[in-house]
Amino acid sequence: MKEHPLKERIIDGFRRIYPASPKPRVFRAPGRVNLIGEHTDYNLGFVCPAALELACFVAAAPNPAGRLRVYSENREELREWPVSDLPECRPAGNWTDYAIGVAQQLLRANHAIEALDLYVFSTVPTGSGLSSSAALEVSTALALLGGRALAPLELALLAQRAENEFVGMPCGIMDPYVSVFGRDLSAVKIDCRDLGNIIVPIPESVEILAVNSMVKHELGQSAYRERVRECASAVEAMRSRHPHVTTLRDADLEMVHELGSGPPALLQRARHVVSENLRVNRWVEAAAAGDLANMGALFVESHRSLQNDYQVSCPELDFLVDTALTLPGVWGARMTGGGFGGCTVNLVEPRHVAAFREGIAAAYRDRFGIVAEIHSCRPSAGAGEI
Ligand code: ADP
Ligand code: MG
Repeated sequence: MKEHPLKERIIDGFRRIYPASPKPRVFRAPGRVNLIGEHTDYNLGFVCPAALELACFVAAAPNPAGRLRVYSENREELREWPVSDLPECRPAGNWTDYAIGVAQQLLRANHAIEALDLYVFSTVPTGSGLSSSAALEVSTALALLGGRALAPLELALLAQRAENEFVGMPCGIMDPYVSVFGRDLSAVKIDCRDLGNIIVPIPESVEILAVNSMVKHELGQSAYRERVRECASAVEAMRSRHPHVTTLRDADLEMVHELGSGPPALLQRARHVVSENLRVNRWVEAAAAGDLANMGALFVESHRSLQNDYQVSCPELDFLVDTALTLPGVWGARMTGGGFGGCTVNLVEPRHVAAFREGIAAAYRDRFGIVAEIHSCRPSAGAGEI
């Protein structure tokens, strides 16, 4: 097997921090970009993310002093705990919570935690919606397991529980799931109700690019919780006539239109979720047919629905999408992730990629004075040892 191009660099970094430790094993877990299916996960619908080449790497070797030491190269910070203290650790409110949260979940699932020196290095930008947090959790879990087997779905659920319960972030299953189940050159359509998936090969004649708006508006967190509540209210309103509807996953567009007599926001929120689930299925069909025009058109429909009905976009994301659609070779663009900042995702013809990068960056800098970061989102394999 070909060695991962970053492996030597990770091992060198490990040796610099822990010169006395033996040679480490190295584990990798990717970040992700959600291609379509936004705000559908907590409504138990469909999402279709792809794992990225951007990933978190954790090098691990035994620590002879009975301690767990964790160094983050990105933060340039070393923290340590006696292994015997791990079950009682409380959240510290910083990046180490992701590692300790995972360790505690492993202990709860009856996996012993050995004393280890861990070196963390991630190429996933943090806090921009490409899921650096799940990449950190999954790679840390693999390092702590040290090659001991854990069913892939268990691994994803364990990472989610660590983030929900220890970090205190009520995130869905999508991020750790695709970090575990990702496939080279393919997206993964996930059914958030039964947690099954299908692999969706991406046509080779398109490049996927994420454009990071570099903004994150405060509104995001409160709006997220408000949308979750609004979806529950929409379900409540539907249930008088349709008692089998327990989440918006069960609703259809006719039921959405029956909400017309209630508050307009409920109809709009429900219309987004129900139509977005349909779009995921249509997008997967378009991808299977290699129909780039349709894949792009569905991206744009998804964005307009998030912008106008779900109302989780922002001027920066709308500008990036609208500008992308004026550039040559762009099949489609949409915001990706929770909204109010973070990234857009773009489908671009390979021969137009260089001009796209330049054109979108220049326009964004002129309008907002911000240098956008642009990432290639070539779909990659899921987590494992490298
Ligand atoms: P996202 O998952 O979209 O990148 P989150 O807010 O969910 O954003 O997670 C970002 C947080 O994850 C960071 O603030 C940091 O605490 C933690 N994190 C991710 N990668 C690293 C890393 N390499 N080193 C230290 N902390 C990290
Ligand atoms: Mg995250």
